[in-house]
Amino acid sequence: MKRSHINAAGREHRMEYLVWMEEQRPAVACSEDEFATLAECELDALPDWIKSAIATHNVAISIEDRRPNEPRTLGVFARYSGTSQITLYRLPISRVAGGRQHLRRAIHDTLLHELGHLFGMNEIDLDHYSIGNNPLPDAQPIHAPRPGAPADNETSDRDY
Ligand SMILES: [Zn+2]
Repeated sequence: MKRSHINAAGREHRMEYLVWMEEQRPAVACSEDEFATLAECELDALPDWIKSAIATHNVAISIEDRRPNEPRTLGVFARYSGTSQITLYRLPISRVAGGRQHLRRAIHDTLLHELGHLFGMNEIDLDHYSIGNNPLPDAQPIHAPRPGAPADNETSDRDY
């Protein structure tokens, strides 16, 4: 793992999909506002125990277009003393989604991956789940997002 340039005292973890550059998927067009709304809905739909952990650990969640020099990175978790930061990268997430009906799922999964780090999981732990960077063949699937966020209303396709 590359050392953080954010803060020498902080630890950071990145989630990236290694396949998308090969596949050259077209990005789903999603404005900053729309992406922020979807991310807020996903945060809102998390179970209460996760939401209270986010509050207790002072996790700031922000959205940026892309990570400089790391175009495949979907999200980053960085821990500092007393606070943590999750950054979601709008453009690569829009690309890996592979379709508008999968956008919520892509945001959801990236968020859960980074939250896994908040709860002390490393990349090897996360590879036991479908949200790992390199999921094992028998990786456990992660629950789909709960219905109700805006993307659900735009499509009848529920295969995410
Ligand atoms: Zn990670």
